[in-house]
Amino acid sequence: MEDNRNDSIVIVGAGFGGLGLAIRLKRAGIHDFTVLERAAELGGVWRDNVYPGVACDVESLLYSYSFAPSAAWSRTFAPQREILAYLKDCVERFGVGAHLRLGTGVAAARFDERSGLWAITTTTGEVLTARLLISAAGHALSRPVYPELPGRTSFEGRAFHSARWDSAYPLEGKRVAVIGTGASGVQLASAISSRVAHLSLFQRTPAWILPKGDRPFSSFERRLLQRVPGFQRLLRFALYWRHELLAPGFVRHPGLLRLVSRWALRNLRKHVRDPELRRRLTPRYTLGCKRVLPSDDFYSAIQRPNVELVDAPIEAILPKGIRTRDGLERGFDAIVYATGFEAAEATAPFELTGRGGATLDEAWRDGIEAYLGTAIAGFPNLFLIVGPNVGLGHSSMILMMESQFAYVLDAVRKMRAGGLASVEVRREVQRRFNERLQRRLSRTVWNTGGCVSWYRTRTGKNTTLWPGTTFMFRWQTRRFQPAEYECVQG
Ligand code: NAP
Repeated sequence: MEDNRNDSIVIVGAGFGGLGLAIRLKRAGIHDFTVLERAAELGGVWRDNVYPGVACDVESLLYSYSFAPSAAWSRTFAPQREILAYLKDCVERFGVGAHLRLGTGVAAARFDERSGLWAITTTTGEVLTARLLISAAGHALSRPVYPELPGRTSFEGRAFHSARWDSAYPLEGKRVAVIGTGASGVQLASAISSRVAHLSLFQRTPAWILPKGDRPFSSFERRLLQRVPGFQRLLRFALYWRHELLAPGFVRHPGLLRLVSRWALRNLRKHVRDPELRRRLTPRYTLGCKRVLPSDDFYSAIQRPNVELVDAPIEAILPKGIRTRDGLERGFDAIVYATGFEAAEATAPFELTGRGGATLDEAWRDGIEAYLGTAIAGFPNLFLIVGPNVGLGHSSMILMMESQFAYVLDAVRKMRAGGLASVEVRREVQRRFNERLQRRLSRTVWNTGGCVSWYRTRTGKNTTLWPGTTFMFRWQTRRFQPAEYECVQG
């Protein structure tokens, strides 16, 4: 089946990035765009991650669009279902539902140099053409990783990844293994510890954990949020700066984080009395090198009588359980892999062929790279939302996305005003940007803090994080600068 449609702008992905950009376009009076979403429902990571206890670890007043404040949050850190409901509400509120095509992914996209258009083949067999292709397909945290453990597929019980939670499987009365103590593992182990018969939490590296301070909003606070103009903006402003103040510690002066480390260790001492368990839970790398995890209930969950922390390395998965390197074998009904995502080693979100027939995977052979995490040399009229090195260790990703929305919107306006058929970032601009970026990254806690994390590739290159404040990124993306691009008149 081949159907030719001509849209000016095709956005791929209906998560926070794709929907936010759609809303910004709509509000700017631009209506000729389509959002393609391969799944049957919108929501991105907030649709996919439904494991027990899943919640945002940034306060909802900051982890929400600045242009769409909500007074519906029940607590300071909203759970997944409220975040998903918020996204659905935004789609209604801003009238972008008609632009959404669910169940339609992108199989491949090819840039045509003569017309300056992208030909986009969908997973339903259609071919769409578009002037601009914007991938908000969640390059970093959408592809689950399973560890390469001998015998992994031989397990006869239930096994699933945290991001592919099997909600039909009742955990009550089961012996469950959770592998991994990152953000997902810590949240879900805390949440299921009281429901399962027995939980073994396999920890390879202890995480830095800070008190989260999660609590329900009082009815008085909710009334204030609903009725007092400016109250929500004021709280958001305060939260913004509280997070932003951590950036210099992560980026330049890890010594500044010593106070925060002391706070985390005090929190550990307060909640874990057994010195041996405390020792096993004490991180051995600089705070911030891996994502710092906020949790109010992890330490109490790990000390429940039906829970054990296993830090002996896993040797093999067996048909009935797991064998650790100390020779112990434990039997399980279910294994949950909270083992993270293909982030630093990401590949093209779908087959992307740019100028001269070069594919994005070829361009990214030596590691993923872009200009401002948004444009890629060799790929005209393509923009990414949350591309390489846009991630944050200290604050809300929505802030970074909104900077990218403004940048893309400015590009659209300038292309239309100038009658441009295509824009492609100059290779030299991208090269210089990345040299500076990697120089800055080399001094950060993520590169020097003595840990292995999903922020960096196997060879140690940091391809995921932004080495600065969010306002520095906003400043650098404040304007689309045509001089930095090869511009072709239409
Ligand atoms: P992750 O941070 O990459 O954690 C993966 C965990 O699996 C690590 O503890 C890792 O140990 C462990 N692991 C991997 N292979 C293992 C093996 N063979 N044996 C034992 N342990 C193994 O993944 P994640 O927890 O899914 O989080 C990924 C990111 O998603 C987060 O950093 C965050 O940005 C986002 N996230 C956010 C929220 C939120 O609340 N906003 C919630 C969940 C996720 P090592 O540390 O030793 O490698």
